[in-house]
Order: sequence, then structure tokens, then C-alpha cells
Amino acid sequence: MTARYAVFGNPIAHSLSPLIHSCFARLTHDDISYERILVEPGQFRATADEFFKTGSGCNVTVPCKLDAYGYADSLTARAEAAGAVNTLKKLDDGSILGDNTDGGGFQADLTGRLGCALSGQKVLLIGAGGAAKGILRVLLEAASVVIANRTPEKAQALCQACGSPENCSVRLFSELEGGFDLIVNASSSSLYQVLPEIKDEVYSGCTLAYDLYYTPRGTTVFTEQALKCGAAKAVDGFGMLIGQGILSYELWRGLRPDMAAAMEYLRTRLKD
Ligand code: NDP
Repeated sequence: MTARYAVFGNPIAHSLSPLIHSCFARLTHDDISYERILVEPGQFRATADEFFKTGSGCNVTVPCKLDAYGYADSLTARAEAAGAVNTLKKLDDGSILGDNTDGGGFQADLTGRLGCALSGQKVLLIGAGGAAKGILRVLLEAASVVIANRTPEKAQALCQACGSPENCSVRLFSELEGGFDLIVNASSSSLYQVLPEIKDEVYSGCTLAYDLYYTPRGTTVFTEQALKCGAAKAVDGFGMLIGQGILSYELWRGLRPDMAAAMEYLRTRLKD
């Protein structure tokens, strides 16, 4: 029988996950179905209970990652550390495992596909929401990080909770001057077509500017601004999206789709 998977969220109509996971199934000669499921406010548990009567696993996106964390019967270490769940899997005993593949997807893209060595690097992390929290752990394994956020108190809270205070600090946007090797925009600014309110010279001399937001054409207002202001390279978060999807697929199916092949196929499909 074809195994059933889905993505839960609200809104959900825009989600690329069905396209991505059908691509993975094709690349691994696997057979799955994958659908979008709209979760009405306050209805996560009821919706998940219904789905798991026949479903094998799901991805979970905004605004349901905390609900999924509470729903899981057990958690992987990385879900526990992130405090949020983006992947659920029904285990053989019928219980539900919660995982978080966002940080791993970012790592696979940044240090794997893009070959960015983090060791000793000075990183500016813009944003202090769920995504920033997920990737901060990955960055702090090797780099020192300055966090800046529109609401500075949230950056402060994220820094205090990171467990590595000697390698992490907080600045106001207006205090930033430059000198960063890597700048990661983990805020939703590009979604609204606006830029973080940092000076142009902050981008100057950085080797990579990475926007978690992604678009079909692979550029965002942030990546365009970074290149204009002197960043050597700028990429959107499409690779992270594929990377986190690959880790979900591997958890569910025990198969690992090839990232480069998936990126090439999906970029072409999206441009069409
Ligand atoms: P959250 O809602 O948890 O956090 C939003 C963050 O963006 C906060 O830090 C918020 O600041 C900041 N922000 C919102 N609007 C603006 C603005 N106009 N200017 C400056 N900062 C702003 O969202 P997530 O952390 O889940 O997602 C953040 C981004 O990452 C989104 O664009 C999302 O699409 C992307 N993402 C990409 C993934 C991928 O696989 N590529 C995976 C997950 C997320 P404040 O605290 O002041 O409100």
C-alpha cells in the first residue's frame, strides 16, 4: 500500500513540500503520497489524530511547530534542543516521534553544498524567531555569533538561552559596523520585501550572505542588497528547504535523496 505523508500548517496552499517530496520519491524510486493539510486554529491535535489513523508521517510548518512538539510521544535530541518539531513519524508501536530537521537542513546546505567552513568565523545572525533559534545551535558549534533583531529583547533572550555565552553577543541594528564573514538573515523581512535596518557597510567584505527566505528565482531583496553592498556571494534558503526535507524523508523512509539532483530538478520546475 502507498504510504501516506502530508504537510500541516496555516496557510498551507503555497507550500512547496508536495512538489519536493514527490521529487524525492522519484529520485529514490520510492512510492508515497503527499498532501497539504490546513490546520484550523486550535485544531492541531484533532487534525493530527485523524491523519495518523492512516498516515505514516508529516511535516509541520508555521504556526504549528510548537503544537507538534506537544503532540509527539517522544522526541529526537535535536527536536528537544530546538523546542519545536517540524517532522512527525508514526513508529511501529503506533506512537508518534517528533523531530526537527531545520537546523540540520541549514547545516547541510551551508557547510555541505556551499562548502562554508564555520570554524573561527564571525557570523551576524539577523532575527530571533523560531528559525533563528534552530540555526543558532549549528552556528555556535564552530563560529562566534552576533545576534541582532528588530525587537532587541528577543535577541537578548535567545542569546541568554543559547548555552554558549562566550561565543554569542547581541547588538542593535544601529550599532552594527561590519567585519562579518557570514551574514545570515533568519528574519522574515524578505517575505515583506523590506530590508533589515542595517548600514550598507555591514555587508561589505562578507564572504557569504544567506537569506533563509526563498523564492522561485533564487534571489531576495536581502541577497540583492548584500551583493550591491559588497558581499562576495549571496544565496536564498532554497537549499535549506531541500536539506530539511531530505532529513525528514530519511527519517520516514530510510532513503536519502541526492541534494544536488533535487535542487536542479526543483529549481527548473519552479522557474517554469
Ligand atoms: P518567526 O515568526 O518565528 O520570526 C520572525 C522573525 O523575523 C523575528 O525575529 C521578527 O522580529 C523578524 N521580522 C519580522 N518582520 C520583520 C521585518 N519587517 N523587519 C525585520 N525583522 C522582521 O518566523 P521564523 O523564524 O519561523 O521564519 C523566519 C524566516 O525564515 C521566514 O522568512 C521563513 O520563511 C524562513 N524559513 C526558511 C526555512 C527554510 O527551510 N529555508 C525554514 C524556516 C524558516 P521581531 O522579533 O521584531 O518580531
